[in-house]
Amino acid sequence: MTKKAIEIIGLKKTYKGGTQALKKVDLIIEEGDFFALLGANGAGKTTIIGILTGIVLKTEGHVKIFDIDIEKDHNEAKKLVGVVPQEFNFNIFEKVQDIVIQQAGYFGISRKEAKKKLEPILKILDLWEKRDTQAMKLSGGMKRRLMIARALIHGPKLLILDEPTAGVDVELRHSMWNYLRKINQEGTTILLTTHYIEEAEALCKNVAIIKSGKIIKCAPVRELTQSLDSQSYTIEISGLNGNLELKEFEYSLIDSETLEVVVKKHQSINELIKALDTLNITVNDLTPKENKLERLFLNLVTESKN
Ligand code: ATP
Repeated sequence: MTKKAIEIIGLKKTYKGGTQALKKVDLIIEEGDFFALLGANGAGKTTIIGILTGIVLKTEGHVKIFDIDIEKDHNEAKKLVGVVPQEFNFNIFEKVQDIVIQQAGYFGISRKEAKKKLEPILKILDLWEKRDTQAMKLSGGMKRRLMIARALIHGPKLLILDEPTAGVDVELRHSMWNYLRKINQEGTTILLTTHYIEEAEALCKNVAIIKSGKIIKCAPVRELTQSLDSQSYTIEISGLNGNLELKEFEYSLIDSETLEVVVKKHQSINELIKALDTLNITVNDLTPKENKLERLFLNLVTESKN
């Protein structure tokens, strides 16, 4: 039987000043899972992470990490977790390897031992060449990877990442995704928070959607994305002469260079581009008109009313 990496029962948090950030959250994450906590700004994601990592005090409820109650045995629970917070919080004047080695020290790992563990982690995160560089001289993406290296140095069973790819460029995002997939396959349970359903879709097995302090859905990622039956796109075009006729698609022409098209679940963007190409229309840009997460919320709210 798989173990529970995280068990949250009846969790409530009211901040001083009265904001009810969490309203009775129940959440179970199995060992080995790659789990996304998905929600808009202010939904309560960081508060959950803060409680899991002992930074925020809960108001009510129970939280266990690998069966260890985080309140009763905080230090034991802490050893099992690596955290990558949203904000960079290392000393920018220190060198990369010193930042990571120092973190190992907090977990009782000797300097010699930490140096041994450091090499493969920095290599895989493409930071080995930068080990003697001051953190302030790293790019934003490198700083983000340094945060991951630091979170992993004590070999945690659970890695928690708060919006890991915020501000990270596309190329780096993909290499980070690959790295996270790899450590998950090697046995590390991963919990990440994100605003982007696309990120959850690319990486995670299961997802919980949180809205205004409540989990409104918890399901396999695939199940959720399949519930989206269409996606609207805004398309910038050139070469339109006269009327436009796209038989297979629902669309509206905003002006001679802008088109809005609904692509249904059984259709593909490729078919749409081919259809435009047949009419000698060039696609200059194509962007999703609405955020998929917003759509999911709407679907879920409608579902709960029916
Ligand atoms: P984001 O995606 O913007 O990081 P989030 O889902 O992580 O958002 P939280 O940071 O957990 O959301 O915030 C949940 C609610 O609690 C918000 O209304 C926020 O304003 C409030 N909140 C968060 N931290 C504090 C605090 N220290 N004191 C008072 N209110 C807070």
